[in-house]
Amino acid sequence: LLPRIDSEVLRTKNGTPYLKAPGVVAISQPATDLSGLATFLEDLGYDKYLEDPMPSPGTSLCKFAGQLCYMSFGDKRTKNSEAQKYIGNILESKHGSVLEHANYTLLLYGVSRSLTHELVRHRAGFAYSQVSQRYVGEDSLRFVERPEYQNNPELHKAFEQRIDQIRSEYIRLTNNLVQLQREKTPELSIEEEQKQSEKIKKCRQVARSILPNETEAPIVVTANVRAWRHFLEMRGSLHAESEMRILAKRVWQVLKEMDPTLFHDISARQLTDGTEALKVLHSKV
Ligand SMILES: Cc1cc2nc3c(=O)[nH]c(=O)nc-3n(C[C@H](O)[C@H](O)[C@H](O)COP(=O)(O)OP(=O)(O)OC[C@H]3O[C@@H](n4cnc5c(N)ncnc54)[C@H](O)[C@@H]3O)c2cc1C
Repeated sequence: LLPRIDSEVLRTKNGTPYLKAPGVVAISQPATDLSGLATFLEDLGYDKYLEDPMPSPGTSLCKFAGQLCYMSFGDKRTKNSEAQKYIGNILESKHGSVLEHANYTLLLYGVSRSLTHELVRHRAGFAYSQVSQRYVGEDSLRFVERPEYQNNPELHKAFEQRIDQIRSEYIRLTNNLVQLQREKTPELSIEEEQKQSEKIKKCRQVARSILPNETEAPIVVTANVRAWRHFLEMRGSLHAESEMRILAKRVWQVLKEMDPTLFHDISARQLTDGTEALKVLHSKV
């Protein structure tokens, strides 16, 4: 089972769902199998390389890729029991390209549209798939409460009232648009009936314009280790905004659980305002 950090879904008295924190679910990691290298290694005289027990899949993959660069497969190489020292040298020398081999995929939910708008600015080494507000309607409409509102009764109450109001306005607007469309074409042929979902999409793409930045925007993110490390450095830093920093810490926790070696030089620290930031020892590898 891959690691995850769940996030509870709450509801206002009127039933509008919202979340207070990001959920981070790991759904993919490298499936490294070095056994096929046996012939290649034996021909070169490195037949004992595969006798060294493999560390985690990501570290094994990156370590082999790095060792190939110098054909470091002999007895004097850094053994897997010292994989952290090996990865430490990679980080120190900024030989970050070997970290691009290992990819990890996470589902992020309980994150706001404003957060994901910032997240998708990261291009190099990242792939994204995000919920479409054109296709998906009120059944999946949820909101994210900012950390700053959560312990302030006035801000919390205003948030709940606001999302109730937005939800009902969104539903009313979508229904009005669908109704207007039906009035334009009251008798539909079977073929046109089949096009209904396309038409509802056209209504939703209009209605979504009233949705705020605090609307939840679930997203699947795949990135290689070099890219994830850059994300953690930029978005876990004290300069990043609070919702993003909470996400960065959770992403780090989940990635670290899958591969403690590749993320060993990262730590969390408490700031004077009570929030947390990440410290990445080896910057911009
Ligand atoms: C605290 C904070 C505040 C920000 N404020 C703003 C803001 O006010 N307005 C705004 O528009 N953005 C803002 N950003 C976003 C920021 O400018 C970047 O767009 C975002 O962080 C993505 O990082 P990146 O550029 O390193 O890209 P990534 O895609 O993560 O790239 C990683 C690295 O690859 C290299 N790289 C990637 N693409 C190229 C390229 N095309 N050419 C050359 N090298 C490349 C660079 O070395 C880059 O650092 C902010 C970011 C942070 C963390």
